[in-house]
Amino acid sequence: MPYRFIFDLTVVPKRFFKELAIIIDSRSLHKKTGKILRDLVDKFKLSDLLGLEISDILVILEDLVDTYVKNLVYREEFVKTRRRALFLPHCARKYVDYRCRAEFDPRIPTYNCRRCSEDCQINQATRIAERLGYDVYVVPGGSCIPNIIDRFKYEGVVGVACGEEIKLASIFLEKNRIPAQAIPLLKNGCSATKFNLQALEKVLELNSEHRVSSGKVDFG
Ligand code: SF4
Repeated sequence: MPYRFIFDLTVVPKRFFKELAIIIDSRSLHKKTGKILRDLVDKFKLSDLLGLEISDILVILEDLVDTYVKNLVYREEFVKTRRRALFLPHCARKYVDYRCRAEFDPRIPTYNCRRCSEDCQINQATRIAERLGYDVYVVPGGSCIPNIIDRFKYEGVVGVACGEEIKLASIFLEKNRIPAQAIPLLKNGCSATKFNLQALEKVLELNSEHRVSSGKVDFG
């Protein structure tokens, strides 16, 4: 279920995310979460910057905090995993019309990137992940993920998605004890959504020298 509003956090100064990360690392959130986040929103004038209601911004930030905290909680288990998959959202393709040369394989389902644009984040993320031995899926929706994990028996998962999709995926992953690391979308929408590629690369590299590829079945 996507958010009911469009956002673009790529316009927010990096200092904001640094302050947010420091607060989360200090584990001082707990009961004061609402007030701390509200103060940060005011300090960085996010309502003006993003053109969103404060209540909507708080929804995004609370989901960001949840994601960061869960990443910390599951990191230790995740680094021990060997058979890993990366799930990317199809909306992060540079184009979602005929200009995207990716071939859609409905049997998985996934879009197989044909690298038509160097500045497409799906192309960039796929290159990094495959070099590190990950199987990469560019999925049309989060509901496909449980089936893919079951079929190919992944031990660890990295996913890029909006906060709402991350929450839904975590229910399945936690129930099945599969440690995951999530990278939240910084800009949502129908196409060319954005995420932090450097943050993704750092997560993908976690203990990657001990990784083995699962040898994803090629249905093509
Ligand atoms: S680089 Fe890949 S995912 Fe991006 S638009 Fe081209 S074929 Fe599609």
